[in-house]
Amino acid sequence: MEKIALAPHFEVSRIIHGQWRLLDWQLTDSELLRFIEQVVELGITTFDHADIYGDYECEPAFGKALKQKSGIREDIQIITKCGIKLISDKYPERKVKTYDYSYEHIVSSVENSLVNLHTDYIDLLLLHRPSPLFDPDEVARAFGDLKQSGKVRFFGVSNFNPQQYEVLQSYLDDKLVTNQVEISPLNLSAFEDGNIESFLKRRINPMAWSPLAGGKIFKPANNRELAVNQAISNVAEEMGLRSVDQVVYSWLLKHPAGILPVVGSGKIERLQKAAQALSFIMTDEQWYRIFIAAKGDELP
Ligand code: NAP
Repeated sequence: MEKIALAPHFEVSRIIHGQWRLLDWQLTDSELLRFIEQVVELGITTFDHADIYGDYECEPAFGKALKQKSGIREDIQIITKCGIKLISDKYPERKVKTYDYSYEHIVSSVENSLVNLHTDYIDLLLLHRPSPLFDPDEVARAFGDLKQSGKVRFFGVSNFNPQQYEVLQSYLDDKLVTNQVEISPLNLSAFEDGNIESFLKRRINPMAWSPLAGGKIFKPANNRELAVNQAISNVAEEMGLRSVDQVVYSWLLKHPAGILPVVGSGKIERLQKAAQALSFIMTDEQWYRIFIAAKGDELP
């Protein structure tokens, strides 16, 4: 599996495994450990979490699995996120969902994640979503202290637009190492909001969340989705592939921005197919056919 250096001394696997749906997989601690080991055997060594996933239960479940095997932590890279405050039975005082990027919240969220994940460092911390109350000075102070204490190695953002990214970056000494945004043939917003150009300009590898549109790519529900599904199926046939998902990964991997798909499947054979997609070559014309179907219009 190809490794991508997001920063000096920090490599992640080209395919990342997303943990948002971890509770859906209904695995015991030992089954989850075995699953993680199988994923690592495929070369997928980077795991994407957030404090809030599974109503705050995904991180602890993953941590319980890791706890069973000493040494496994050094073989993997853990990404987690902070900043969203969910309405949850665990926090009965909350009346609405809010975002919180105060120094105290960022630091305490990381400290909780460390306990949950049964580790003493997070490889990469992402700010989950931009906030209208964002104070970059405070974020910079939190990042500085977390880095100095060794609790977090690197920092990035998620769902930021280019301006939001530039503003935060201008307050930081260290480079933000990624922006995790939604990218799939059913979601082209990164091509339309300037983010793709910003990734290229900054030379950062973006991460694509929901690369299969959360499974919607397989169940077209309107004319546009049908056209995308058809275009992908035609390309699959031409490439000699039997599966739609491999074509989608290939479509993402071909892009010069060096996109890292964050794959959400709980099935090892589907992760294996994602890993295999690294070796397929899609032509520019095939790429455009999917893009044009996704845009719903011919190119100007
Ligand atoms: P996805 O890979 O687009 O979708 C995964 C879903 O598609 C799963 O339910 C999976 O089911 C299903 N699927 C995969 N292959 C299939 C097939 N051949 N046929 C039918 N269904 C299939 O990604 P996602 O889970 O939506 O998101 C991936 C990761 O992105 C998350 O885990 C999380 O880490 C991250 N994320 C980040 C943000 C953010 O704001 N930063 C937001 C959302 C997600 P099976 O498990 O049965 O394969």
